[in-house]
Formats: sequence, C-alpha cells, structure tokens
Amino acid sequence: MPSFDAIVIGGGTNGLACATRLAQAGQRVLVIEGRDKLGGSTAETDPWPGYRSPCLSHLLTHLDPRVETQMKLADHGLSFVDRNIPSTALALDGNHLVLTGAAGDTISGLISDADRTAWQGLRKRLMGFAGALAPFRAMTPPRLAKESGNQYLKLAQLGLGLRRLGRDEFREFLRLALINIADVLEDDLADDRLRGLVAFDTVLGAWMGPRSPNSLFLYLNRLSGEISGKRGATALPRSGMGSVATAMIQSAKTAGVELKSGAMVERIIVENDRATGVALASGEEISATTVISAINPKTTFLDLVGPRHIDTGFANRTRNIRSRGGAAKLHLALKGTPDFRGANLRSRLVIAPSIRSVEDAFNAVKYGEVPTRPVMEIILPSAFEAGHAPDGHHVLSAIVQFAPHEPKDGKESARNAMLENTLSVLEDHAPGIRALIEHSDFLMPYDIEDRYGMAGGNWHHGELAVEQMLFLRPFPAVAQYSTPIAGLWLAGAGNHPGGGVSGAPGWNAAERILSRGRS
Ligand SMILES: Cc1cc2nc3c(=O)[nH]c(=O)nc-3n(C[C@H](O)[C@H](O)[C@H](O)COP(=O)(O)OP(=O)(O)OC[C@H]3O[C@@H](n4cnc5c(N)ncnc54)[C@H](O)[C@@H]3O)c2cc1C
Repeated sequence: MPSFDAIVIGGGTNGLACATRLAQAGQRVLVIEGRDKLGGSTAETDPWPGYRSPCLSHLLTHLDPRVETQMKLADHGLSFVDRNIPSTALALDGNHLVLTGAAGDTISGLISDADRTAWQGLRKRLMGFAGALAPFRAMTPPRLAKESGNQYLKLAQLGLGLRRLGRDEFREFLRLALINIADVLEDDLADDRLRGLVAFDTVLGAWMGPRSPNSLFLYLNRLSGEISGKRGATALPRSGMGSVATAMIQSAKTAGVELKSGAMVERIIVENDRATGVALASGEEISATTVISAINPKTTFLDLVGPRHIDTGFANRTRNIRSRGGAAKLHLALKGTPDFRGANLRSRLVIAPSIRSVEDAFNAVKYGEVPTRPVMEIILPSAFEAGHAPDGHHVLSAIVQFAPHEPKDGKESARNAMLENTLSVLEDHAPGIRALIEHSDFLMPYDIEDRYGMAGGNWHHGELAVEQMLFLRPFPAVAQYSTPIAGLWLAGAGNHPGGGVSGAPGWNAAERILSRGRS
C-alpha cells in the first residue's frame, strides 16, 4: 500500500499550492523540501544578526486569484504594506519619475505633456491586451494532437476574448505581439527615463533584451498578473515576501498536508514505467500513487528519473530546454539611510536610464561578459516598516541584470566584477552608499542554481519566451503537466504559465490531476 496519495517534490510556492489543492480534495499529500526551510526562493533569510532579507523574490506581481482565495492566504496571515507600490525611475540629476495609480499610468516628475498623454494611452491599450490574456494563465494548455477532453474549446473562447477588444484593437494586438518593446516605446514615447523603466520591467527575469524579438509579449505577461483583483500591480507584503510563503505553509497544514523539510529527493522510483515513490538522499524510500515534481523539468527528468527510464529523443528534448539565467541578487546591510538623490525610499527604485542601458547590459552577457553598467530594481523593506534591520539601519535588496550564467573569465572573477560594477552604479545614484555597507551578499545565476536548484539560475526554471510558452512549455510532450511516465506529473515554474510567485502552475497541475483521476 503506498503511504501517500501524492508526494510533491519541492516546497516552493508552486509545490505548496499544488499540495494544498490536492489535500483540499481529500488526498493524503506529503511535500518534500530539500532545504531546511520551506518556501523555496520566496522564503526569507536572516543572513546577518539583526537583519532579515528575502531569499530571492522581493515583490509580488502575479499572485493567482485562486491561490489567494482558496488557500485563504489572508486568514493565514498574508497582508500588505501596499498592494501597489509606486515605481521610481531614478535619474542621476535627481529629476526622478514616479509612476503610481491603479494602472501605473499616473506620472509625477518633470515630463512633457505629450509623453504623459502618450503613456496613458499606451498603458491603457497594453492593459487591455493583458486583461484579455490573463485567463490563459489558469488553463491547461491544449495538446497539439487531437484527443477527447482537449481544451481547444477553452482556447477558442479565450481567443474570442481578444477578438472582443474590437477589430482595430485586435489588429493592433497582432501587430504589437510580433514586435519588440523597444520599437513600441520608441514609436510612442520620447522620455528616456520612462522608456528605460518599461524596457527594464519587460525583461526582468528574462534572457532577452528590449530589442529581442517578441519581447513585448513579456511586458503583457507582467501586466497580466494581479494582486487581490488589481491587475498590473506590484505589491509589498507586510513583514516581507517571506510572509507569502508562511501563509501558504499554514494553509497547506490546515488542509492536512504533511511537510518534510531538510530532505533532498535523490531519485524518483520508476517501476514498470510507472512512478511509485521517491528515494531520499538519506536512503529512505517513500511510496505514493502519484509523484509530482515542483522543481525544474530538467533536473526532474535528467537527474531524478534518469536516462534509464526515458528515451534518447525525450532526454535530448529535455536537455534542450533553454534555461539561461540573467538575474543576480544583491543584499546589503546598511548602517544608515542611503540618499538616492532625494527619491522616496518607500517605492520600487529602478536604475535603467534608457532602453540602450538595458540592451547594453544584455549584450554583455550574450558573450559571457559582465556588463559595465548593470541595470537593477531596488527595494529597501526597512524603509516601509520596522523589523527588517536594527533601528537606524537598512536592508537593501536588488535584482541586478544582466549577469552571465556562464562567465568566460570564471565564476569567482565574474562575481567580483559584477558586485564592483553594481556598487559603482549604486554609488553614482546614492552618493555615500558604499560607506554605509556593513555586509553584502551577491548571488550570480550559478550561485542561485546551486542554492535553490533553479536550472541555469533562471527566474522561470526555463526561459519564458514565445517559443517556450503555453503548449510549448516546457516542450510539447509534457506541456499539460503530465509526463510519459505514468503517475509522474510536473507542477513547478518551468511549466505553463511560468515563474514568478503565483502558485499558478502548481494549482493548474493539481486541477489537471484531479480532473484526470490518478493516472
Ligand atoms: C534573482 C531572482 C529574483 C526573483 N525575484 C522575484 C520577485 O521579486 N517576484 C516574483 O514574483 N518572482 C521573483 N523571482 C522568480 C520566483 O522566485 C520563481 O519563479 C518562483 O519562486 C518559482 O516558484 P516554484 O515554487 O516553482 O520554485 P522554487 O521557489 O524555486 O521552489 C522549488 C523548491 O524545490 C526545492 N528542491 C529542488 N530540488 C529538490 C530536490 N531534489 N528535493 C527536494 N526539494 C528540492 C528547492 O529547494 C526549492 O525550495 C525571482 C527569481 C530570481 C532568480
């Protein structure tokens, strides 16, 4: 008799969402997490005495509405400092631009009336497209092959949502969807700060620059996310991002999920082409009717299942999943308050002065080099609320792009150069900040891969790009969360609709497992 109905490998937000949904449906579920702490890259760390900082994720843009309500995250402690924090495009002359408002379309700061109006029009149009695309996030992508129970009809209905935008808007959607964000911004806007901010937001977490083909799609993906019904919002949870993971853990426990941390899964046990359980690094074996991998698909098939149980074509296809990570993470403990030339610290601070600055940073990593002037998103959780750093001190969390995942001059040297260049950009924007640094921690994509098991250190556990989206994610044979191995399913960010702290792939996978019964 298997010990559990389902074992979920990986205790990140997707693993927790998947497990909770299954347990709510009456299944006996065990989540197994390799690290000591549950929550994956959304958990919190306390790297230095008196300081708390997010592991990787520091802002929320895509919390799935089903996960938020059906996991009752508010009842389990999730609340927000602000459900939509302002975004500040930092300028070296102190002439910053601040974007606020439900749709992010209200600008304060010196900007021409023409740009202000153009931005409102462009943002409104893109929000319309994003709203029409949002329902795709909650569906199992249809198979390319015809079969009963396929979701073609659902896809057609969702397509109709786009068509309902009207003939002219639909035509505009088709035109824009195929071009890059840089072209769109250059057509409509003249202000470099605004262009730089939107270009940065578009490629955050991606392996592409603003001039890469189809990059506009990623901006639509960003805008398609929502927080408590607010589309396109960027939220800061009270007490930091770790509280999202904590609320999910509580919800899972309430649903009856068993949680085991500090236990690395070394192997998925396959007998007669069927997954029957897992073997842990400790040697313990645990059986289950269903095994669900909420870690990346590459590690799942190549390491945990192993080449013995998959054919060569499938193994090659898995190896070819593109998962180059370009986002690095910086944490600083500061013994005073930095001054970003008068910018309000209770906002998301973005250093990306132009489209060119973002593209130049990407050009470097294409050749394994470190960019001279990296671009970045900065948050000081301690500026929003007490408890993140000792009184009078601050903790700074920054996502820095782009960092080479395979540096040509070696990992150690690339990490040092990347930190130095990042601090140099920071010092330009916040003179004196270097002198405030008590501690620093800089994670390159390869460090992120080592520490959190994300393939290539990639934000999405596999690049999010048109050719790895929807029924092509992670690749066609496994795009519906099921796999060729009976009883083995996928539920992590490497699957549709991709990464970000949303719980959506995990929830979708659970729905699919429940709708199919145990395979
Ligand atoms: C630098 C960086 C910054 C980011 N910032 C943000 C942000 O601000 N906002 C946002 O929305 N998203 C952000 N992301 C993306 C986000 O962190 C991920 O997309 C999301 O956390 C994926 O969730 P997950 O549950 O699928 O996987 P993960 O959170 O990666 O969780 C997977 C879990 O599986 C565990 N695991 C791996 N292998 C095994 C094994 N063999 N046995 C047992 N356990 C195992 C890991 O330890 C981990 O806990 C960021 C990503 C990066 C790289």
